[in-house]
Amino acid sequence: MNELTGRKIMKKELPENINLSEALHFPAMLVEREQACCQRCGSVHPVAAVEMAPHHYYCPACLQLGRVDSKEVFYHRPENQGPAREVVFEWSGELTAGQQTVSDWLQKIAVEKRKGMIWAVTGAGKTEMLFETVHALLSRGARIGLASPRVDVCLELYPRLKAVFPKEDIMLLHGEAEAPYRYTPFVLCTTHQLLRFYQAFDLLIIDEVDAFPYVNEPVLQYAAEQAVKRTSALIYLTATPTKQLLGQVDKKILEMIVLPARYHRRKLPIPQLKSCFRWRKQLEEKRLPKELVDCIKSLMEKNNVLLFCPSIVVLNKIYQLIVAQLPNISAASVHSKDEKRSEKVLQMREKKFRLFLTTTILERGVTFEQVSVIVIGSEHSVFSESVLVQIAGRVDRKKDFTSGEVWFLHDGKTKPMRQAVKQIKKMNALAEKRGLVDELCLLSTANNQSSINQ
Ligand SMILES: [Zn+2]
Repeated sequence: MNELTGRKIMKKELPENINLSEALHFPAMLVEREQACCQRCGSVHPVAAVEMAPHHYYCPACLQLGRVDSKEVFYHRPENQGPAREVVFEWSGELTAGQQTVSDWLQKIAVEKRKGMIWAVTGAGKTEMLFETVHALLSRGARIGLASPRVDVCLELYPRLKAVFPKEDIMLLHGEAEAPYRYTPFVLCTTHQLLRFYQAFDLLIIDEVDAFPYVNEPVLQYAAEQAVKRTSALIYLTATPTKQLLGQVDKKILEMIVLPARYHRRKLPIPQLKSCFRWRKQLEEKRLPKELVDCIKSLMEKNNVLLFCPSIVVLNKIYQLIVAQLPNISAASVHSKDEKRSEKVLQMREKKFRLFLTTTILERGVTFEQVSVIVIGSEHSVFSESVLVQIAGRVDRKKDFTSGEVWFLHDGKTKPMRQAVKQIKKMNALAEKRGLVDELCLLSTANNQSSINQ
């Protein structure tokens, strides 16, 4: 029966021998006034559009988790507060003053069961800020969910959480996970998997709340709202909150705390804008724009370079020209349709390439040491303010300072470019005002860095 606790599951999704006599159940779809409402994902459809057979309807919106139809029921067992218990917590790191403030705030919000958002800049070290709260709540017998729209984020978080909570059984759920579901007080999952939970969590944390697909998918937002208990805490984490989320803060629906500084106490690198006139036409004529080549060569004197391209077509064109015209540079490229994506990202982490071309798939969730960043065609509509802030945030994430730089090469400045720069400068100013940054950058270029920043 534990499979059903805090969940809503159809019979066909359950092991065959399970006894359902004590389980609660409710219809999988409600059909009323020519409309069919899915009880898993909350979507409402006109009956005519979703009729499989006479008076038999299905939900197309959450089909990827298995079909919900009007002949099915959901089985559920209410979640009770677990007993207080001892939770082994092995973390020897130390939070910075800024991180500690956020950690204390989070713990208060979680205990008082409120709704909040942590706006922490890229590279702030947000995972570490969750540890104390997770420990405190698990010890009280609470059930905790940590969800991300991105499976790669979940996969990266899992070993880190296991290291900090070594005795804790953590269920990792995502679309390709092979382990069968089991009840655990601590669940790490993609936001899609929240659709199978119902009033389960005392605390639910959604990481990268502004990331695709969560940000423009009402079904996933519904999933989060109904996966938590009626009185519970719901926390969003982001480095680039959407206008909609900030609107909720203005309306006092959400409480917010801002961490404007990185854990290593250096300011965020400010993107530099440089005109790259008619770069697209030059590529068509099989020429690499001079500004791009100069920028790559100059940045490569100190660091490896991540080159963000607005599309796979542009990426392929530039990659072919670089291989042909700059054969001395060890370059590789990666995009969403690349089967060797994970392998190449790992190789780049190991510094096997000096130049790594990518699309926006690497805008967030990855950390490379010793990189500078170039965005070619930063005027393209794919580069929104938040995408540009995230991309700029790939630079200078590690403790050792490497003079990483961020360059936007453009054929005409855009509002998102200007706003991204403005947002980064605003965060730096706030960090300075709060005494959360040191002026180490100037010192660092003149001295051996590792001795300064340790
Ligand atoms: Zn549905």
